[in-house]
Amino acid sequence: MMKEHQHYLSEMVKELKPSGIRKFFDLAASMKGVISLGVGEPDFVTPWSIREAAILSLEEGFTSYTANPGLLELRQEISIYLNKRFGVQYNPVNQVIVTVGASQAIDLTFRAILNPGDEVLIIEPAFVSYAPLVTLAGGRPITVSTHPDNGFKLTPEQIENAITSRTRAILLCSPNNPTGSFLNKEELTKIAAVIEKHDLLVVSDEIYAELTYDEDYTSFASIEGMYERTILINGFSKGFAMTGWRLGFLAAPPAFTEQMVKILQYTTMCAPHMLQHGAIEALRNTYHEVESMRRSYRRRRNYIVQSLNNIGLDCHMPGGAFYVFPSIKKTGLTSEQFAEQLLLAEKVAVVPGSAFGESGEGYVRCSYATSLEQLQEAMKRIQRFVEALENSKIPFEEMYTKK
Ligand code: PLP
Repeated sequence: MMKEHQHYLSEMVKELKPSGIRKFFDLAASMKGVISLGVGEPDFVTPWSIREAAILSLEEGFTSYTANPGLLELRQEISIYLNKRFGVQYNPVNQVIVTVGASQAIDLTFRAILNPGDEVLIIEPAFVSYAPLVTLAGGRPITVSTHPDNGFKLTPEQIENAITSRTRAILLCSPNNPTGSFLNKEELTKIAAVIEKHDLLVVSDEIYAELTYDEDYTSFASIEGMYERTILINGFSKGFAMTGWRLGFLAAPPAFTEQMVKILQYTTMCAPHMLQHGAIEALRNTYHEVESMRRSYRRRRNYIVQSLNNIGLDCHMPGGAFYVFPSIKKTGLTSEQFAEQLLLAEKVAVVPGSAFGESGEGYVRCSYATSLEQLQEAMKRIQRFVEALENSKIPFEEMYTKK
């Protein structure tokens, strides 16, 4: 007779916690009239010419596998884009890999660079996938907490304090999810000095590179001395409004990509052929649309930061991405309680900061990738919620649970 199913499962996988973001999506999805500031994706539909290119590709019968690292034509476009936009040079033949989202690029990277027990510094609050992907690749995620005092920017000292003899790599993400914090060239250069000193690799998640609002973007690979140490990760999801396409890419020195292509060969083979044609169109002809979406996010960012501060929820001005990370400490609630009660009371979905690591406690993530009208309504509801909390003598646990 078969033992309990649990017996047959991997201990490592059983120990992974499900994403704290999904939990709130599920709750919100079961309710009517919810305004979601929870989702980390553009509210724009992919520009039409990109969709058209993919449709055409299907009509013309491009339904086969492509080369493992993707269509050479697409890799060439990626190489041109990286050069023109960020001033970094990668050979499309052996330094660029097209992946199934930036997510797969991060996964491939950890699998390719980690030996059992190697440590990777994860800067928290952080995107939910990083630590689990390090663990699944046999490494150990080590948390480096950033602080609100300087807008959650990583400092060289914070890295120094976390380094051990097992530290292999550091994952940098600027602009950051969930804090929106952005590191400019000067700040990155200071970080680079520590990287060099301790001979580390850098996994640079640049998925929000197109979404910066006040300062020019600097790719970490373009910082002097960092090219050889950097695995650059980017993709189409955020800037080009293509989350559902699941298309990303990475660029790195050939020694890394050579190993990664082997993993790709044995796992997904390649990203979907017809969608890669859409990505070629995206890079060739849609930059003006990216720019127009960026301007729209910028307006919304300015609006939401000001509104939250007016409500009394302290919120720093994030330099990029489409998230704000206000403090909810003054309400006395934990971030999970705040998110849950706000959803029940006012039907606004936000994500508890604790979903992004311990240092996110006391904050919530609000995505402003939603229309200005929706944002205005959400701000009204949040204001009502915060005022009700302030005026109420009833312990918050009893306030909304019966609704
Ligand atoms: N990196 C960060 C920081 C993200 O926020 C996300 C998605 O939310 C990803 C990577 C994954 O991107 P993709 O849709 O390309 O897999």
